[in-house]
Amino acid sequence: FDSFAFFNEKAASKANLFFRLENLLYEALDKQQFYLTYQPILQINTGEITGMEALLRWHHPEIGEISPVNLIPLAEKTDLIVPIGEWILRTACQQNRQWQAAGVPPLPVCINLCLNQFQNPDLISNIQSILEENQLEPHWLTIEVTESIIMENIDYSRRAIEQLAAMGVNLSLDDFGVGLGSLSCLQQFKIPAVKIHQSFIKDLDHSPVNEAIVTGIMTLGRKLGIRIISEGVETQQQLEVLQKLQCQEIQGFWFSKPLKVDAATELLSQNKIKADPLA
Ligand code: C2E
Ligand code: MG
Ligand code: MG
Ligand code: MG
Repeated sequence: FDSFAFFNEKAASKANLFFRLENLLYEALDKQQFYLTYQPILQINTGEITGMEALLRWHHPEIGEISPVNLIPLAEKTDLIVPIGEWILRTACQQNRQWQAAGVPPLPVCINLCLNQFQNPDLISNIQSILEENQLEPHWLTIEVTESIIMENIDYSRRAIEQLAAMGVNLSLDDFGVGLGSLSCLQQFKIPAVKIHQSFIKDLDHSPVNEAIVTGIMTLGRKLGIRIISEGVETQQQLEVLQKLQCQEIQGFWFSKPLKVDAATELLSQNKIKADPLA
């Protein structure tokens, strides 16, 4: 039994698979199989939309829809995450520019970054040139990163976060509460906004544990002057608990699923959405 040959064969087939994956992603970019959907974030009390989160979608002609949960980690294994990430940033900023040009009330577009994108040495200059290209003021862009991305290299993150803040780009800490370093992250960095992970919002209306956790996060937010956004709000019952806990901002299927451009534009054009979402 020639284990060396066996190993080589396995390595070769892995390399081959990898090559095919890279081609698939390259083709997706080239043939415009990627598109962005946008999910509104809104103020609980006024119904005002305070941001639109861009969420990546991939429609492959044979496979169909591929979730970003699968797509992003695959793309991260290849160098293509860099051009894909740039495409996301550019497309969302262009879209936001178009919304502003159409006269909808201006709001930030929120972009998720994965580790490789965040640690890309060209991150700041890429953001800068995309904003300039689109004549978009930096405060109409929000960068969402998770605590695990920030804590991966604290020194690097400190510089990047300072540079983003100096530029005037907003930062949100995504998926708050599930990562091991969530609290350390607040301890070490000036974080202006936190998005509570949806697992804490799920069952909020009949889980005393979740209610206690969300109450704690709201207290943290008030004491530290951090905006708190609840993700994954699906029901009226969850919304009512969040209102009781004085959470100001929500995102979730209760109000809207992520929308394709046309539907998102229509929603934004309605300008005043719902005076009181609880009414
Ligand atoms: P995320 O940034 O935390 O985005 C929120 C996810 O929750 C989205 O899933 C959204 O569709 C989903 N969601 C929103 N409201 C509800 C709700 O009420 N109930 C439930 N069950 N889910 C809700 P999606 O679009 O599948 O994205 C999943 C994750 O993939 C994102 O989590 C983000 O980490 C990543 N992702 C998505 N788009 C991008 C992107 O453009 N770039 C990068 N780097 N990551 C992305
Ligand atoms: Mg996000
Ligand atoms: Mg999240
Ligand atoms: Mg996430």
